[in-house]
Formats: sequence, structure tokens, C-alpha cells
Amino acid sequence: MASSRQLFAIVLLLLLALSGTAVAKIVPGYEYVPGEVIVKFNDNVSPLEKGSVLAQVGGRKVRDFNGIKAEHWQVDSSVEAAVANLENDPRVAYAQPNYVLSLLGIPNDTRFGDLWGMNNTGQTVSGDPGTADADIDAVEAWDVFTGSADVLVAVIDTGVDYNHPDLVDNAWTNPGEIAGNGIDDDGNGYVDDMHGYDFVNNDADPMDDNGHGSHCSGTIGGTGNNGVGVTGVAWDVSIMGLKFLSAGGSGDTADAIGCIEYATAMGADIMSNSWGGGPYDTAMEAAITAAYNAGVFFVAAAGNNGTDNDSGAHYPSNYDVPNVISVMATNNDDTRVIEPGWWSSNYGATTVDIAAPGLHIWSTTPNNTYSDYSGTSMATPHVSGALALMVGRFPGITVDAGKNLLMTVGNDPLASLTGLCVSESRLNVLKLITDPDIIDPSAVIDLAAGTLGSNWAELVWSAPGDDGTVGTANSYDMRYSLSPITDELTMYSGLRP
Ligand code: CA
Ligand code: CA
Ligand code: CA
Repeated sequence: MASSRQLFAIVLLLLLALSGTAVAKIVPGYEYVPGEVIVKFNDNVSPLEKGSVLAQVGGRKVRDFNGIKAEHWQVDSSVEAAVANLENDPRVAYAQPNYVLSLLGIPNDTRFGDLWGMNNTGQTVSGDPGTADADIDAVEAWDVFTGSADVLVAVIDTGVDYNHPDLVDNAWTNPGEIAGNGIDDDGNGYVDDMHGYDFVNNDADPMDDNGHGSHCSGTIGGTGNNGVGVTGVAWDVSIMGLKFLSAGGSGDTADAIGCIEYATAMGADIMSNSWGGGPYDTAMEAAITAAYNAGVFFVAAAGNNGTDNDSGAHYPSNYDVPNVISVMATNNDDTRVIEPGWWSSNYGATTVDIAAPGLHIWSTTPNNTYSDYSGTSMATPHVSGALALMVGRFPGITVDAGKNLLMTVGNDPLASLTGLCVSESRLNVLKLITDPDIIDPSAVIDLAAGTLGSNWAELVWSAPGDDGTVGTANSYDMRYSLSPITDELTMYSGLRP
């Protein structure tokens, strides 16, 4: 017969198994915001009980994270004492510090150069002669497709100069919000949020006061073919500015989660994340997982320490969530950036996915300027922009299918990247968007006139599939003519089902 102690142990194990708690602890060696914690209650904890837990650490709620069902608190006690208290409370699923995060760009002195990452002709960049075609084949891709304003990319960073001449046309405008009326017209919880949100200053103006976020934005979607400045990988796209990094380039977990939840709720297709820091973070992983479940790509910089992310995890790029795409940086010779005394790109045979250009990248910076920045921060937006082109060209593609396309087709395998990332390849946007769909839709076989009017006719047909009769056709291209149809005389209008 089991002793009472054994019974107690069995009951405790059962309780742990039933509650499914994932208690977060403080990870040594990482900076966090004093007097702040992120807390998630177990299900079925009453508001009264939540209030008593809040009181026992002298806490005040700052905000709710509706996506991950967690809360951001200020506490009177130390973070250490609050987390220790809360993690032992059976009503709490997890409690953790609000970790400090920072951007991963390395601004350099302004100097002249070319967009070698888009099209490398072997030009000398900052004194270093390059290798022709060590690039993402953007020029070739633009012959196929140049982008769509229907694709929404959230740049989670220091903000975006949405007035920059090369960004103004591609800045996202919230269609449900009326500017400056002091009312949250679209009911998303944010008043007058026209172009995104500033979680640092808690206002609706995500203007960039650093430069890093605007630089990343220009690589993703600087307006192409407009006669000024640079061009992004996507000439047409919608860029949402989400600011959680300060003018000095640092931020915290709570504000980053605010950005991720905003972008997820507002229907972003892609999140571009050129930042890092902090340890494994339960709340952050939950927010990224919620974004995945909503069908959002999460592209993240691999880090600039020159280290192996397989042995020393770098977050958020290391989160094992299927939408995370970790990006390392290559130079104009198609090798990993290793700049002794300056910076080197992180790598990881199992934890980094793909490489992209990240050394001496020219792009947009605030107040109508252009600058040369380097870092995995600059490699990341090349991939985000490429995914924007892909989503525009293949509307409705899932995160799983899109990531698979990127990792298997949309790249150039390089011997120089053997063992350094999962794909062992550098991004190739031409291959990513060149029609990989080798199965044609089945033909429309029953087109007929339906209801007729005096000057109109309804046409009816059975929708074909995307692959033969399987899947769903995304759009139809209907053409008509009042005279014999030739290529020159055909007029058309696009119709959607
Ligand atoms: Ca090329
Ligand atoms: Ca709003
Ligand atoms: Ca408003």
C-alpha cells in the first residue's frame, strides 16, 4: 500500500499534468525592464482571484495581450521577487521578466555605392570588388512581377518615415480609421492609427526617430521605377510601421508583443524583424505562434555576433515555430559576412534558414536621405521583400507552402554556405516567383450566357481548380471585343470569383 507521501507525489504529478503549466523563470545574464513582468493566468481563474494575485506582488495592469491571453504588469516588488512569488502560485501559468531587446543593424559612415544585393555586376563596394551575379536576381524577377499593394508587410522596428519620397507611395494606410478625430473608428483598440502604431511612446504615430526601421522598409519596398533613390525588392507593397525600438535602438518584450499582436489582428502577411536579444521567452513565443496560426510569416535576423545559433540560441530567430525564417548575411562575394574587428553574421546548420545580402546595403533613411547600413538586419528585409513578391504573385499561398518554396526552390545553393544554414543557399527571388505551378487549371467547358438584359448579359461557368480540377482558381481574366480578336485589339478586365 502506498504511503501518504507517495500518494501526495502522485496527486501532485497529476495536478501538474492536468494544469499543463509552463512556468517561466528568469534566465540569468539577460537585461530586463525594472518593475515589470508579463503574466499569464491558468484558465478559469476568476477576476477576483486575479485581483488578489495582482495585490500580492503590488501589481498594476498595464495592458492585456488579447492574442496570447497574457498581461503586462508593473510591480512594486523587484522583478525577481515578483516572478518567484508568481511562479509558485497555482493560478499562474507563467510569469516572466520583460526582457530588453535591440536592433541588429550596424550603421556606417555614408558613402556611395550600389544596390549590389539586387544586381551584382562585380562592382567595387566599399573598396571590395564583388563577384558578378552574387545577388538575389531581383532585376530578372522584376521582368516577371514587381509587387502588389494588396500585400501587407509589418516592419517591427524603430518606426518608418512614411513621408520619405521612396516610401510614401507604399506606406500602409488603415482603411477603417479616420485620421485625427480622436476616435478608434475601426475598433482595434488604437485611436487614429493611420500607418501603424508607436508602442514606445504609446501614440498612433510610428514615425522613425532612429533610421533603422526606414532602412529596412526601403529594402522591402522602396518604390521602384519612380526616378528617385533606391528600389525595394517589391516595387509595390503596403508597409505598416510598428515601433517598439526607441530612438536609441532598444525596446522590450512587452512592446514587441504589442507590435506582433497589432500586425496579426490587422491582417499582415509578413512580419519583418531585424532585432534580437533576450533569452527564450514564453510570451514572445506564444505571440509568434498566434501569428503563425493566423497565417503570417515571421522573418527574423540571425544576429551579428559571428556565432553558431545551433549551440548558442539567438532569439527571436531561434523560435521553433513554423513561420519563423531565420536569415544570415552574405557579402558581395556570396560568402558569410566575416569582418574582423567589426561584425560577422551568425549561422546555424539547423537554426538558420537562408542567407541574403547584408553588407553595405544602401536604403532609405529619414528626412529624404539614403544610407549604407550593414548587418543581418539588412539581410532580413531582402527575404521579407521577396516573400512580399511571392504572396503578391501567388495570393492565398499558405505560410507552410511559401516557406517550403523559399527553402527548396527560391534560392541558389552555394558551396560557401555548406553547413552554415538549413538551405545552404542564398535567396533568389527570381526562382521564388517564377511560376513553380506546373499543373494548369482545367479548362472552362461550360461557359454560357445566363440572364440577358437589353444591354448586358450574365455569363456563367463552372469554376475550374487550381491544379486540374483540384483546388480553387484565384481569379479570372475575361476579355471581350466588338471586332475579330487579335492581340492588338483585345480589351480586358480582370474579374474575381
Ligand atoms: Ca543577377
Ligand atoms: Ca483604430
Ligand atoms: Ca480615428
